[in-house]
Amino acid sequence: MNKNEITKLKRWFINQCRDLPWRNHPSPYAVWVSEVMLQQTQVAVVIPYFERWMQRYPSIQHLAAAPQEEVLKMWEGLGYYSRARNLHAGAQYVVEHHAGILPNTAEQLSHIKGLGTYTIGAILSFAFHQRMAAVDGNVLRVLTRYYGICDDIVKSATLKKIHTLATDLLPEKEPWIVSEALIELGATVCARQPKCLQCPLNNSCQAFLEGKTEQIPVKAAKVAITPLYRSVAVVSHHNCLLIKRGAKGKIMADLCEFPYVELTQPDAQSEILQTYMEKAWKLTIEWQQALPPVKHSFTRYRALLLPHIFSSQTAEAVSDYEWVDIETLKRLPFSSGHRRVFEMVLNPRLNLESTL
Ligand code: SF4
Repeated sequence: MNKNEITKLKRWFINQCRDLPWRNHPSPYAVWVSEVMLQQTQVAVVIPYFERWMQRYPSIQHLAAAPQEEVLKMWEGLGYYSRARNLHAGAQYVVEHHAGILPNTAEQLSHIKGLGTYTIGAILSFAFHQRMAAVDGNVLRVLTRYYGICDDIVKSATLKKIHTLATDLLPEKEPWIVSEALIELGATVCARQPKCLQCPLNNSCQAFLEGKTEQIPVKAAKVAITPLYRSVAVVSHHNCLLIKRGAKGKIMADLCEFPYVELTQPDAQSEILQTYMEKAWKLTIEWQQALPPVKHSFTRYRALLLPHIFSSQTAEAVSDYEWVDIETLKRLPFSSGHRRVFEMVLNPRLNLESTL
């Protein structure tokens, strides 16, 4: 990309960029939070979460001092909770090792949990204004198309090549603007369906000039999605519900979930669930009603939750589960699908709380 193209890109960004709450002289901490939230999540979804987060935890010290349960609750709905756990652990690390000030070298940042090459590049570029590339999926798309690169972008050699190209094209003066402009271009113009006629780089983009925008970037086949069918039990006893918290180190670590049994196919009946709870847990329960199914995707799974409400005469102890009152549950973090089940239980229009 020559100087003239860089100037066009920069001008386009200055005139067209979206007004986002983490732009315009952000603190290193704000860049860190926004970049972690933006991983695997769309900008429109992130904005209210980011604003709430920065109000609740205006500094690294505030975040480090917060209980993990509360941090996960603040993250609830964004998914991929390891991001929140790492952010929290990272803040505690920065308080302990850097007096609460985010360091400004790649080497020091690399010791902070959850910070990978992209996030480190973004922090150094956007917050510290260093000449550092930040190559995310958007930049990969722009640069592979611009340079007509047909190598598989999943391969580390390709990523390395793009990273070198992205670094080389950064000017000495205001490199962070070009870095952010590439991301913005990928997010808004050079999207999956590119709007090449609106693109400031269309005079020299290889993919556009050769009609290859649909073939580039080249990506190896994705990991197969596994469907899951789960019959979920909301079991109540005197305003308490039976829940389990995910074990440490597991996908749902520290997140609340209702009891469920895995099904081999979607089955809205409650018998399997009831039989299981009565036989395995010795609970005496009575079916009350079924709730609408809930779809819930996480990592490589697509789960269909089929919830039922049961009442129990007694609060029998169940191994790995606990009875928790509803007011306390409102403050605890749930996995996304089970949170939606819980929201249905709380929805005043459904008037379910009275049946508990
Ligand atoms: S011309 Fe089209 S394919 Fe090339 S960078 Fe611009 S939007 Fe992407």
